[in-house]
Amino acid sequence: MKLHKKYLSIALIGLICLPAGCGQGESAQSAIPPAPTTTTLPADQYPKTQIYFAPDIDPMVQDRVRITVAGAEEIWGPVNDLEIWVTGLDPDAALTFRDEFCVIRKKTETESMYCDYKADKNTYLFVDFANQSKEGGKTYEDDGPLAFFNAFSKPSGYIVMPYPHGLASKWPVPSEIDQITIFHEYFHAVQEAARNLSEAKPFADYELMTGWMKEATKTFFKYDLLEPRWFMEGLAIAMSENHVLRLRKEGKIDVESDKGTYNPDLIPSLSGFLYETLYEVGELLEAEPNLRLKTLSDSENGRTPYVFGIWAINYLMVENGPDVFLNNFYPAIQELGWEKAFSKAFGKSIDQFYTDFDQFIRQPQDDLLQFLISSRVDSW
Ligand SMILES: [Zn+2]
Repeated sequence: MKLHKKYLSIALIGLICLPAGCGQGESAQSAIPPAPTTTTLPADQYPKTQIYFAPDIDPMVQDRVRITVAGAEEIWGPVNDLEIWVTGLDPDAALTFRDEFCVIRKKTETESMYCDYKADKNTYLFVDFANQSKEGGKTYEDDGPLAFFNAFSKPSGYIVMPYPHGLASKWPVPSEIDQITIFHEYFHAVQEAARNLSEAKPFADYELMTGWMKEATKTFFKYDLLEPRWFMEGLAIAMSENHVLRLRKEGKIDVESDKGTYNPDLIPSLSGFLYETLYEVGELLEAEPNLRLKTLSDSENGRTPYVFGIWAINYLMVENGPDVFLNNFYPAIQELGWEKAFSKAFGKSIDQFYTDFDQFIRQPQDDLLQFLISSRVDSW
């Protein structure tokens, strides 16, 4: 799940526009989005991931989602048995959509708390998403519901997405937001698959246990092996920002739907995104001067793991390159747990890294900016 990306992106576009003198500020407010046209995507360009669309989502928007997912698959490969559920705007259609979701949960013996009966239908997840999406589409101020990835207890899981206003050209914000959301959640599925913890066995006679004891033991065991939130989220943000912006620049994913709202020639970068979070780093440290990467979960601000996470991941990427995460770190978690996997993959103990990073992030902002300029990981 990710937080308040909308504001960051809007701020970022403003930021990139200033020196470029793009003068598209007024059109962002007054633009009339192009009328949706139905496109037909050749079947061989369909992604392998099973994507389910609420019945009120039109074919053009469906295709734009498919193209985005296919882009993510091209980078990280398809994730076996992954499902993506894209909700619409109509609460009645969402109810039908929920029934379809729950039929598949039964058929594939994959549990979900979202299929539990509730007396008030508006509290069903998909209906709630449709209602919230409708509200979120009306104003800049409302983020709408947040997409999420949920893992099954057997390998893989599902992503639930709110209505993609950007890809539908129905929102005065570029489709980049939806594309980044899709890549971000898709990457959480990639992380889950790379950890492969559903295969991990807590101890030798674990197999002899039964029922809830077995489930609970496994849940706690898995939780202990898992990397911390700053790592998980920081990496998902770094990966999605970097690849989406690059693919847009290369013309491999849609920028058409931005027409009238956003100049597609203005391509922000991952470094630009980091630059945009610099002021937040300063604010967070000012509010909580004793913040440490190791104890981020104690922070009172929900954004802390995201903001510090992206900086910590960028620091690791500059030192070790972008491939070590999926090639070395994640595959080692099942056997070693995340802390030992960290030392093995990054060549220093996690405690050493915490010390280094806490010192690094407290440098004057000018020095951090200099670091961004001199050590770009997005050299495209
Ligand atoms: Zn996330």
